[in-house]
Amino acid sequence: SREIRLAARPVGEPTVDNFAMATVPVPELTDGQLLVRNTWMSVDPYMRGRMDDRESYIPPFELDAPLDGGAVGEVVASRAATIPVGATVSHLLGWREYAVVDADGATVVDAEAAPAQAYLGVLGMPGLTAYASLTDTAPVREGDVVFISAAAGAVGSVAGQIARQLGASRVIGSAGGPAKAAKLTEQFGYDTAIDYREGDIAGQLAAAAPDGIDVYFDNVGGETLAAALDAARVGARFALVGAISVYNATEPVPGPSNLFLAVSKRLTLRGMLVLDHYGRFPEYLGKAAGWLAEGSVRTEETVYHGLERAPEAFLGVLRGENIGKMLVRLSD
Ligand code: NDP
Repeated sequence: SREIRLAARPVGEPTVDNFAMATVPVPELTDGQLLVRNTWMSVDPYMRGRMDDRESYIPPFELDAPLDGGAVGEVVASRAATIPVGATVSHLLGWREYAVVDADGATVVDAEAAPAQAYLGVLGMPGLTAYASLTDTAPVREGDVVFISAAAGAVGSVAGQIARQLGASRVIGSAGGPAKAAKLTEQFGYDTAIDYREGDIAGQLAAAAPDGIDVYFDNVGGETLAAALDAARVGARFALVGAISVYNATEPVPGPSNLFLAVSKRLTLRGMLVLDHYGRFPEYLGKAAGWLAEGSVRTEETVYHGLERAPEAFLGVLRGENIGKMLVRLSD
């Protein structure tokens, strides 16, 4: 079985040389374990943080050891009474063709109800991130004006449509480039799109929301966060979910120079980690199934084929080469 290992820690933007392919024998199962043939794996921005040797909410990847992350696959051997051969499972041992997974660490998914890879996107961690942020961290209320950054990505493409379901009166998204901006309004249900690469984000946001914003879903930090502080109404709520504009920074990045607006506008700025919200997966899946079935949430994916292309897919997600969820197809 082939697996991808961390060959070297990056400084700044990672490259394909940070990764190495290895071939290893498939180990024997012990009681309670499954052998899973991975069919899809996820690449996610948080993996950039795990490439550094730094303490965080999740341990760093180890040098010369396989990477890990979300994956789905087919159970081809089982020594667990609870999960039979043939089941489709999602688990956390991606970046390899075959995974030996403890049954406790695998979730059987309904591959009839949705394609298996949806459980890595809209029906998986990114979808729950969108839902928990907008119902708990910075709850959307009826009539709110909501602004979301990285709006064409896995989390953002779903978040705009969920905001609408929760009663937002106006949903504004920012993304990089005209093609993505068009997608926001044509496919992902946004009322207005901001192309942050055009510059003057604050001016574009003021034009899109002349009366200000009530909720900001921050995926990027940096200049976009400063623009959202400018546009915030008194009492606005910010979900601090990610800061991808600084993930490759080699120097400490200063915070927004207008942070004092949080005082004068009595803002709530609240961080969120999806790990804290896994208990709400059943609730979310129930709602998402309905939204997908009635077509009120539409999704897209960008797919790279073959384990050997997983590093490129990961570098691509950091550079914005994806629309919707970035995925790697490992086998049929
Ligand atoms: P996306 O699918 O949104 O991919 C990342 C996107 O970030 C790219 O497509 C790119 O889009 C955008 N981007 C890259 N560089 C910049 C930049 N300098 N400024 C602005 N945008 C940039 O990834 P996810 O949906 O998986 O994740 C989105 C965010 O949510 C990330 O910050 C991630 O860390 C965070 N997250 C946090 C979680 C939590 O528990 N707190 C859980 C899941 C995700 P573009 O072309 O528009 O620039």
